[in-house]
Amino acid sequence: MLGHYINNKFLKPSPKASTFVVDNPATGETIAVLPKAGRREVNLAVASATAAALDWRRLSASDKAEMLHEASRKMRRHASTLIELLTLEQGKPHLENEEEVVWSYNTFDYYAELGRHSRGRVLPSTEYGVLNMVIKEPYGVVGCIVPWNYPLLLLAWKLAPALAAGNTVVIKPSELTPLPTLSLCEVAFDHFPAGVVNVVLGDGSAGEALVRHPDVPMIAFTGSLATGQKIASHAAPRMKKVHLELGGKDAFVIADDADPRLAAKAVAYAGLINAGQVCTSTERIYVSARIAKPFTVALVDLVRGLKIGAGADPTTDIGPMIGTRYREKTVRHLADAKRRGTRVLAGGKVVQGRGYFHQPTVLVGCDHTMKIMTEETFGPALPIMTYRTFDEAIALANDCIYGLGACLYTSDAKKVHAFYENVKAGTIWINDPLTDNYAGPFGGMKYTGGGRELGEEGLDEFRETKHVHWDIEAKPKSWWLPYGRP
Ligand code: NAD
Repeated sequence: MLGHYINNKFLKPSPKASTFVVDNPATGETIAVLPKAGRREVNLAVASATAAALDWRRLSASDKAEMLHEASRKMRRHASTLIELLTLEQGKPHLENEEEVVWSYNTFDYYAELGRHSRGRVLPSTEYGVLNMVIKEPYGVVGCIVPWNYPLLLLAWKLAPALAAGNTVVIKPSELTPLPTLSLCEVAFDHFPAGVVNVVLGDGSAGEALVRHPDVPMIAFTGSLATGQKIASHAAPRMKKVHLELGGKDAFVIADDADPRLAAKAVAYAGLINAGQVCTSTERIYVSARIAKPFTVALVDLVRGLKIGAGADPTTDIGPMIGTRYREKTVRHLADAKRRGTRVLAGGKVVQGRGYFHQPTVLVGCDHTMKIMTEETFGPALPIMTYRTFDEAIALANDCIYGLGACLYTSDAKKVHAFYENVKAGTIWINDPLTDNYAGPFGGMKYTGGGRELGEEGLDEFRETKHVHWDIEAKPKSWWLPYGRP
């Protein structure tokens, strides 16, 4: 199981291969040592995907749909193994990993049916006897580069539509969380024809080799802004299609009519799930000055009661962060905010000892001079700022380079309307933060990148559009001067 997966086989690692270590973020212990892909392995994987591309493209939509459903059925059967691996390697609580696995196999079922029923269209013809058709076709080999925070879900959101659209794939999982992807190859993808699904392991250099490969015309990437910018520039010389889902800094606005205790619960969930390591985490809280006090008291009360621990412990509310490098960023942002005058009302500290834990933290008196309100933190911090008018809240929500999601808590329809009309973000959540819908396109605006996953848009990302103009009778045309002259 522990190697690159190419042509439906795990490649035996060469003894000279350089390796990387995967550890358990709850303890810091090593759980796997894996080979890194160099140019040779990336070339092999791309060659395998290229060889499989034509047959896979020509397979009927129904046959492809059945294979995607079969992958989903196998994932259900092996759900407990996948959940355990996610908990061990990614660290979030068991229950959150259960959700991730359910979402992942449901995504395969959703795209199986969308692919089966998806059609091109016939246009009004330009003249009698001429057929005008719009058809959709796959890119060929798609490179899927995945981050560590939802290793299976973010893979499923790429892999299922890419395959349904008729592409073959080379996956590059995060070097921090490769094990669930390898497990899928072993137990859930083995029925796909050889070469349709391939996996190369390693860090950014394996990802870069995939992006630069001349036979990979499309890259689907989720990850940080900095890496997305590199990928866009490496793909540019060959004008590759690049699908980018990058960072976020989501705002949560609490209107003056909100129930402060309910709003506090919604904010705690949206900001602290997966220890704040979600692209759509609430990272900035704007509360009306009229209810700021009861809201803050309720939030602090709630956060102080949360239990920090390993994801495998069923009593854990908040698991570890993925690693020290990521935890350091939260520490730096908190230090900067404190220097600029914020007050920490709950948490605020690294948890000493084994693993990469950080206390969930509530801080007040924040403003836009602080990194914690302007740069992606990706940790368990809830910075609060008050506002006086709703227009001011909207302006604050928009004062950010990212545009992934935005949340609002209110029962005032006029505020809801003003919010979704004026806030620049790919998803707007009203009173129900971070709830996704298989049919609802997910993605961002501004520096979060373009493109959408999920929904019909998520399938279209993996297809090119072609217009066919066919004069069935091949009549000569008067406008072909001089050839059309009677
Ligand atoms: P990252 O950019 O460090 O790494 C993501 C993936 O890219 C990894 O597999 C990594 O090995 C690979 N990579 C690194 N350098 C590369 C290069 N030069 N060329 C090709 N591939 C390269 O991101 P991360 O730390 O794994 O994930 C966290 C980030 O992902 C956060 O910024 C978060 O907001 C973002 N994210 C966005 C979404 C979204 O839908 N918008 C969802 C989840 C996470």
